[in-house]
Amino acid sequence: MQRIIPAAIAVAFGTLIMSGAYAQQAPDFSKVEIKTTDLGNKTYMLEGQGGNITVAVGDDGVIMVDTQFAPLHDKIKAAVAKVSPQPIKYVINTHYHGDHTGGDEAFQKDGAVVVAHTNINKRLATPVANALTGVTAPPATGDALPKQTYTGTSTSVTVKGRTAQVTYQPNAHTDGDSAVYFADANVLATGDIVSVGGRYPNIDVAVGGNIKGMIAVVDNYLKLANDNTKIVPGHGALMTKAQMAQYRTLLVTARDRVAKLISEGKSEDDVVKAKPIQDLEQQAGANETATANFLRLTYRSLKS
Ligand SMILES: [Zn+2]
Repeated sequence: MQRIIPAAIAVAFGTLIMSGAYAQQAPDFSKVEIKTTDLGNKTYMLEGQGGNITVAVGDDGVIMVDTQFAPLHDKIKAAVAKVSPQPIKYVINTHYHGDHTGGDEAFQKDGAVVVAHTNINKRLATPVANALTGVTAPPATGDALPKQTYTGTSTSVTVKGRTAQVTYQPNAHTDGDSAVYFADANVLATGDIVSVGGRYPNIDVAVGGNIKGMIAVVDNYLKLANDNTKIVPGHGALMTKAQMAQYRTLLVTARDRVAKLISEGKSEDDVVKAKPIQDLEQQAGANETATANFLRLTYRSLKS
């Protein structure tokens, strides 16, 4: 059966749709199960469909990082209820993409307050076409927009006994990325600046994303982390600092090889044809189309 893909989901799945792996198929949310991993100190990682979720349980409420897709709201809520009877008081968005913010509206209707960098509201309210797919999401209004935004370099979110340190990471995956760190649990939620598991990271160059910024942020993350840090990537399995260092090497290698071709006067299509990162394709577990897309976004980053 061919499904019609809602624009917000199409934007989030842009790269996959183009890859052919999920050709014209929206995910079947009824089949998604939420897997909960205990990270210690009443902190959990939730995996379903879309961006990973981090949950920190306090004495009078829960802080949750990202919300995946709207149709998964009930399942995510049930998974959180299994680890705490407290209400979800705050949701923090790592960035605006629909696979991380889709559930915001329903969680705010439940009484949570969504906290985000101010650029997330800008991107949700006035969407820009995806650089690869040309798809534009419908504008968000009302409860679908974060109620508490911050500008500047950081903010914090607190429930009784738990604090999330939220730090703005400029021009990396998007222009509104936040890192979320729970110091008491030594858990870092990176958003899509770190994205692994059969894929390259997406770089949303249409809204100021840039591979140079991604590398700079991963360097910040490597400084913050120690060998015991539990790193929740935007996509993929829980990571260690050593695995994040490997991921940094992938980004730097791609940047350097594309920069070299640009210095030789190569066009975007030339760079794709030159196949400069075949070895990384295997490391990322990606396919040829994904490699081409990643090269295009890297090229555009370096040209901008
Ligand atoms: Zn994203």
